[in-house]
Amino acid sequence: RIVLGIESSCDETGVGIVRLGADGSMELLADEVASSVEQHARFGGVVPEVASRAHLEAMVPTMSRALEKSELTLDDVHSIAVTAGPGLAGALLVGVSAAKAYAAALDKPLYGVNHLAGHVAADTLEHGPLPSPCVALLVSGGHSQLLLVEDLAGKITEIGSTIDDAAGEAYDKVARVLDLPYPGGPPIDKLAKTGNGCAIAFPRGLTGPRDAKYDFSFSGLKTAVARWVENRERDGLEIPLADVAASFQEAVADVLTGKAIRAIKDLGLDTLVISGGVAANSRLSGLAAERCAAAGITLRVPRPRLCTDNGAMIAAVGAHLVAADAEPSGLDLATDPGLPVSQVQIL
Ligand code: ATP
Ligand code: MG
Ligand code: FE
Repeated sequence: RIVLGIESSCDETGVGIVRLGADGSMELLADEVASSVEQHARFGGVVPEVASRAHLEAMVPTMSRALEKSELTLDDVHSIAVTAGPGLAGALLVGVSAAKAYAAALDKPLYGVNHLAGHVAADTLEHGPLPSPCVALLVSGGHSQLLLVEDLAGKITEIGSTIDDAAGEAYDKVARVLDLPYPGGPPIDKLAKTGNGCAIAFPRGLTGPRDAKYDFSFSGLKTAVARWVENRERDGLEIPLADVAASFQEAVADVLTGKAIRAIKDLGLDTLVISGGVAANSRLSGLAAERCAAAGITLRVPRPRLCTDNGAMIAAVGAHLVAADAEPSGLDLATDPGLPVSQVQIL
């Protein structure tokens, strides 16, 4: 069965195609993404109206490319999955409207799915089914959460989350302080490779003995970096950009991996999945690999291309729902910009 996935929650228009085997196996056949990130760069963040318009223009061409790559036609499609939330209201509407149009015209079942479940499901396209239960560390531009994943077709529970900025948001804000381009993750990652992560002791938020065990805070870290740079500038000193980037990156990776491993140990589990845009970070995956190996934990991180937003991960959630014989969503499917991760599907 061929499952089509449509993604438009933020600034990437994605169409992915997954073949669901009779045995539940999933094969990725196409993963086409058109990004409007360059149109947002000069604003230092995604401009919702610009993103919606870009989705409108990119949707049909991206669909055509995905079908072409997979050498399939719309007639081969068994069902259609689409991101129904969370995300930007106008951006979500473009994808959901397109998905409804395809579902109605082709008379195929429609599944309105959760974008965050999609980030976790992306890993199953690369490494196969997830052991149940396992812990997922979801770190993206808008979210930073620790999840207990029992079933990608239905049971995902949040066990911790950021109380202020998301990890990706901290990257984007620190990049601005360092005069690096938006989005900040990739340039900081690159610059940090030439710096010393131990050079500056930036704060590790919420790691005191009385702090919530599985929650994160990155707003204080971002402010600490900005203050440190300001003070150096005021004193007329040179800013060691690579050391600042590496030390900031070390603080983020240290807290994220430390709390994720603690959760796995507390729950008596053995597998950690890291996903979302920040999972593409080389130090985060490197430190997680070191610490997981030391603790006897299996680490799964999808390749960077599957970490950032794409349609394939939405097709993967759709395929899990189809495999579980889930009820399809109605053609009156609504979007929910604030959809919680515990709700994998909107009916
Ligand atoms: P959400 O999934 O929460 O709705 P989003 O879809 O905008 O948010 P993603 O596309 O998953 O988020 O991730 C984008 C974020 O990932 C950006 O903040 C970007 O800076 C960050 N990012 C991308 N590559 C890297 C990297 N190598 N290191 C660190 N951060 C990165
Ligand atoms: Mg994006
Ligand atoms: Fe995302």
